[in-house]
Amino acid sequence: MSTKAFASQADLQDKQVSFTKLSDHAYAYTAEGDPNTGVIIGDDAVMVIDTQATPVMAQDVIRRIREVTDKPIKYVVLSHYHAVRVLGASAYQPEHIIASQDTYDLIVERGEQDKASEIGRFPRLFRAVESVPPGLTWPTITFTGKMTIWLGKLEVQLLQLGRGHTKGDTVAWLPQERILFSGDLVEFDATPYAGDAYFRDWPQTLDNIAALQPEKLVPGRGAALTTPEQVQQGLAGTKAFISDVYACVREGVAAGKDLHTVYKDTYARLKPKYGHWVIFDHCMPFDVTRCYDEATQYPDPRIWTAERDRQMWETLEG
Ligand SMILES: [Zn+2]
Repeated sequence: MSTKAFASQADLQDKQVSFTKLSDHAYAYTAEGDPNTGVIIGDDAVMVIDTQATPVMAQDVIRRIREVTDKPIKYVVLSHYHAVRVLGASAYQPEHIIASQDTYDLIVERGEQDKASEIGRFPRLFRAVESVPPGLTWPTITFTGKMTIWLGKLEVQLLQLGRGHTKGDTVAWLPQERILFSGDLVEFDATPYAGDAYFRDWPQTLDNIAALQPEKLVPGRGAALTTPEQVQQGLAGTKAFISDVYACVREGVAAGKDLHTVYKDTYARLKPKYGHWVIFDHCMPFDVTRCYDEATQYPDPRIWTAERDRQMWETLEG
């Protein structure tokens, strides 16, 4: 028996939703550390960035959008492939679902396993999971590096600024308003999930975001950051966490320690600094396992399955 309930199975308390206006064109749907959705309202259409985990949950986003505009929701952008971000897509009935080619490739390679794994880890985040249509959420447009979409006079840039949270991470950037939607590349008061991450690349990718000099930023989890100072804080906090995990794991690997020992050491060292961030206990076993892999023999993240999740948890927390 595990001493800690597996992943977030014991997290049952619903969160308070906020729908924050960042400009006439940009809104943030946030929920105290649960996955965020971004909304961009152009002259002729609406774009949604990350969908929520189920169509029923996405209906609440649509309800908020309809309080501020009646323009059609034409585009859904997937910041990355994780189920909790993409499985609500059908609710919007978008004309286009846009993702990076790298994200598309990950959906092909591991979408099914990820879906089963994520639903098992965090049942509360998949409210009315029966409303998810069978199969996966498939992009209808893919791009590599950069894509610009004009919503009338409003310019939206979809950018791959490097690997980090996943191989396919995409940010949405409004250059005219200096507002950025980061997906899970940046978190605020929430623990970065790094089970599918590239620890060596992530800090540089955050520097690339900083170089755009966003004035406002919607993170993957946590409150919208509405001043340059808050944006800086979000970027710095995420970078510190990733760098601290990597440094601690590398030290352990260099000393010849096994994963279990490295996990216990890393958890103990990071808990005082980051233990108050939501989903800390959920993320740490996955993050350290991936980091240990990257520091040893796996340049690319191994696929998580529902079964592998359980085995890992039993090994590290049992
Ligand atoms: Zn994610």
